[in-house]
Amino acid sequence: MRDFDTIFKSELDKLHSEGRYRVFAELVRHCGRFPRAKRLTAGGEQDVTVWCSNDYLGMGQHPKVIEAMKDAIDHCGAGAGGTRNISGTNYCHVLLEEELADLHGKEAALIFTSGYVSNWAALGTLGARIPGLIIFSDALNHASMIEGIRYAKCDRVIWKHNDVADLEAKLSAADPKAPKLIAFESVYSMDGDIAPMKEICDLADKYGAMTYLDEVHAVGMYGPRGGGIAEREGLMDRITVIEGTLAKAFGVMGGYIAASAALCDFIRSFASGFIFTTALPPALAAGSLESIRHLKASQIERVRHRERVRKVRSLLDQRGIPHMPNPSHIVPVMVGDAAKCKWISDLLLDDFGIYLQPINYPTVPKKTERLRITPTPLHSDADIEHLAEALHSLWSHCALARNVA
Ligand SMILES: *Cc1c(COP(=O)(O)O)cnc(C)c1O
Repeated sequence: MRDFDTIFKSELDKLHSEGRYRVFAELVRHCGRFPRAKRLTAGGEQDVTVWCSNDYLGMGQHPKVIEAMKDAIDHCGAGAGGTRNISGTNYCHVLLEEELADLHGKEAALIFTSGYVSNWAALGTLGARIPGLIIFSDALNHASMIEGIRYAKCDRVIWKHNDVADLEAKLSAADPKAPKLIAFESVYSMDGDIAPMKEICDLADKYGAMTYLDEVHAVGMYGPRGGGIAEREGLMDRITVIEGTLAKAFGVMGGYIAASAALCDFIRSFASGFIFTTALPPALAAGSLESIRHLKASQIERVRHRERVRKVRSLLDQRGIPHMPNPSHIVPVMVGDAAKCKWISDLLLDDFGIYLQPINYPTVPKKTERLRITPTPLHSDADIEHLAEALHSLWSHCALARNVA
């Protein structure tokens, strides 16, 4: 019998030697006290402030969301009880899909168990089922989109990130008769930059392509009703498929697409990742529904969030801590070295009670290792000052480069 564990261990050793072996911080989130959490370690417990959560607006602890989830459990029980097709479709799912279609100004929506699954299933099915489809994919698209396109086994063309000239060159070089789809994101999660959406829509029109937009980091956050960047820019009607998550700004879990009734019915009817898996628990659907409804009407969270982001940036600037300029809510502080990045992150946690997970390869390219700060409306002035001071002292400690004021 071969010793398979030696294979696993030698692969893991490579990760260790490259300084990119992932270690999870074990946290207990305190409902009502986010972004505060308790960290469990071998040595005991530690109170920490979380600075890297994708629960961007703190909706994961919003009283309305919690109450809706409790109500749903009391009424419907814990799980959905089946796939959507076989006894798993609950009225909460139907209401949620109607709400999502309305949020994005589309005829229909279809929910999945995660954003990852929604990208994988939707792109995979479009690519596999539309004969001759060519997918034009932005070079920095999320792993879930890449996996969906791979699974589709259709022709794919990678265009330079956010580069419309390169996209046009590639569209014009392709067979004019082939059906085409342009897949991209609005807010890119690691650099926080935003796609030139109007120009991409113009090219889609010119070359007769569909558009597929991942708005995962923008739904709930941008646009007057939280419909995302496409809503803010008035472009929702020019996007064929809008994909989003219920797990980031909406604070719960699940993913979805919003599109024409025919397209959603097509994915519903052919996507393996939709058909052959148990439906989302009704409580998750009910909590998401409440969160979406709340953020459609309320601006307080978005306004406060933008103000907090500005405050973080300005305190970093005062101390010359280099962060990537971008027009979004994501504040990447560049370190550029995997080991240093991990070391800073460990010290922030152990000495300052600041939890900021290092972002290393392959999530970002080598030499662009960073700390990805995601301020929330619930971080106080004191939290922000503490973060900036901690980074200031570690920057001196590690002799890291600063921006000159
Ligand atoms: C997080 C993420 C997803 C996946 O969403 P989940 O709901 O967490 O599975 C998809 N696309 C992008 C760009 C993401 O960052």
